[in-house]
Amino acid sequence: MEYRRCGNSGLKLPLISLGLWHNFGKIDDFENCRNILHTAFDNGITHFDLANNYGPPPGAAEETFGKIYKEDFKSYRDELIISSKAGYKMWDGPYGDFGSKKYLVASLDQSLQRMGLDYVDIFYHHRPDPETSLEETMSALDLIVRQGKALYVGISSYQPAEAEKAFAILNRLGTPCIIHQPRYSMFDRWIEDGLLDLLEKENVGCITFSSLAQGLLTNKYLNGIPEDSRVGRHLENGAIGESQITDAVIHKVKQLNELAIARNQSLAQMSLAWVLKDERITSAILGASKPQQVTDAIEAIKNYHFSNEELNKIEFILKQ
Ligand code: NDP
Repeated sequence: MEYRRCGNSGLKLPLISLGLWHNFGKIDDFENCRNILHTAFDNGITHFDLANNYGPPPGAAEETFGKIYKEDFKSYRDELIISSKAGYKMWDGPYGDFGSKKYLVASLDQSLQRMGLDYVDIFYHHRPDPETSLEETMSALDLIVRQGKALYVGISSYQPAEAEKAFAILNRLGTPCIIHQPRYSMFDRWIEDGLLDLLEKENVGCITFSSLAQGLLTNKYLNGIPEDSRVGRHLENGAIGESQITDAVIHKVKQLNELAIARNQSLAQMSLAWVLKDERITSAILGASKPQQVTDAIEAIKNYHFSNEELNKIEFILKQ
C-alpha cells in the first residue's frame, strides 16, 4: 500500500480506504463482513470509513464494525484510522438530522458506543445544513475535538463556496479541517469545477466516494444484472437501481472495459487509478461486497499513470 499525506496535516491515508456504507448491515453475512475487513487491513488499508446512518438499519454498520473490532482489531487501534459522520436523518424529532450542535454531539456519542471506541480519528459533518449557521456546525466539530472524541474533522459534499467559509471558521477556532469527502468518478466530475482547486489552495485533503459509481464502473453489469450485485439486491438508501443500467451507460462501460484490458487492468482497477492519478486526491474509499473485490481493487495502485492518448480516449468515451 502507498500512503498520501492528508492536506498539510500529520495524517497519512492509504490510497485505497474501505467504506462500510453498504454490505455491513443486519441483512449482510457477518463472517463475510469480517473477511472483508481482514482482507483490507492485511493489505495495508488502514482506514475504515463509517457514518451514523450506514446499515440497514441505520447504525447497523457501526454495530457490525464494533463487534469485529472488539474481537479482532482492538489491539491494532493505533494502526487504524476510523471515521464517522453525522448529517443525514438518524432519529425522529428535531435533533436527529442536519447540523445542529445538539445533533452532532449526541450522534457521535452514539457512534462511539456502537463501535466500542473512545474516539474516532476523523469526524465529518456529512452534508451542508441550509438552516443551521455554519458557525454553529463548525463550532460543534471544534468542541468534539476539544472533548477528545475525535482527533481530526472533515466535511462531506460541501460545494466550494460553503467549504471555503467552513475552512475559515475552523481555522479561526483552531481546529483546521483536514479533509473533504466528495463523490468523484469518471461518471461524476463536479469536483473538477472549483472544489479541487480550493482544496489545493487551502491544503485540505480529498477522499473520494463512489469512485466505481457504486459498481457501474466495473465489469459486473456488462452482461446483465447479477442477482448478488447492488442493483440486483434492490437496496434502498441511495443505492443505484435498474434505471441506471441504461444502454447508453453500458455502451460507455464496454469501451472503458476494453481500454482497461489494454492497460492490463480490470475496469475496477482502472476506475480507481483514474481517480488517484491526481495527486490532490488523498485516498479513494472503496465499497466492497466480497473480500476478492478488495484484493482486485487495490491492484489499482500498481499503475495509476495514464498516457495522454489514454486520457483522450477516456474523454472521448465519456462524452459520447
Ligand atoms: P464504490 O463506487 O466503490 O462501489 C462499491 C461497489 O462496487 C461494491 O459494493 C461492489 O458492488 C462493486 N465493486 C467493488 N470492487 C469491485 C471489484 N473489484 N470488481 C467488481 N465490482 C466491485 O463505492 P460506494 O458507493 O459503496 O461508496 C464507498 C464508500 O464511500 C462508502 O462505503 C462510504 O464509506 C463512502 N460514501 C460516502 C458518502 C458521503 O455522503 N460522504 C456517500 C456514499 C458513500 P456489488 O455490491 O454489486 O458487488
